Amino acid sequence: MRWTERQRRMLAAMGVRLFEPSHAMAHDDDALDAGEPVEHATRADAAPPQASALRAPAREAHVPPQRAAAALPAAEIAAMDWAALEQAVAGCRACGLCESRTQTVFGVGNPHAHLMIVGEAPGEQEDLQGEPFVGQAGKLLDNMLRSIGLTRAVAPPARQVFIANTLKCRPPRNRNPDPAETARCAPYLTRQIELVAPRVLLAMGRFAAQALLDTDQPIGKLRARVHRWRDTPVVVTYHPAYLLRTLADKARAWDDLCLAASILEKPE
Ligand code: URA
Repeated sequence: MRWTERQRRMLAAMGVRLFEPSHAMAHDDDALDAGEPVEHATRADAAPPQASALRAPAREAHVPPQRAAAALPAAEIAAMDWAALEQAVAGCRACGLCESRTQTVFGVGNPHAHLMIVGEAPGEQEDLQGEPFVGQAGKLLDNMLRSIGLTRAVAPPARQVFIANTLKCRPPRNRNPDPAETARCAPYLTRQIELVAPRVLLAMGRFAAQALLDTDQPIGKLRARVHRWRDTPVVVTYHPAYLLRTLADKARAWDDLCLAASILEKPE
């Protein structure tokens, strides 16, 4: 495959080192497509746990214990406006994650964004800073967005994305979200999507994709085509944390990004 000059610039912006697939690589791709690409770890901070990450943060000693309590009824969440939803998320104690979080991570960006990104769950930095995707994976995400003319920084809805996570609280030690936590948090994400009403949803990583599409299919089977969340087109791609480790799939992620961008470019 030959890259055009525009494609080369976009790939460079994403930090993708250009490769011209050799026959050997094309063969490898076929093998991957036939099987299920394994997403080694989808968490931004899910790099091998370090000794320090395994210790309970010192701050926990000073935080009054918050106990999980009954979840708000989904119907109540479904009727909330943006401010009420933000407040409900901030005070949520619907699952045990409230006991270890520093703060909830509601999301960032334009509440009327044309493109809404859904990630997995806050990692350590996100838990501390209260914003999604602020670590290395977040930097890659920002570069990927820049490559298609989008940003999380303040801009009109056609240019500024909204970024949310499937879970609003950090799972301890960045472990995978558990299905009960995902289910308890789902009404918040549902309401966020309803209120943002994006033209396209971009699900990054297996957890986001499976939660949004209510499937257990692997990401390799879900990416590269357009799904629907209700009436909204959904494009699935790899999680930026995975891409940091798997250079070869950056080009596939870039294809997915272009797919999402092509939907955005269509007249409404
Ligand atoms: N990974 C995610 O999926 N979301 C974040 O906010 C950070 C890392």
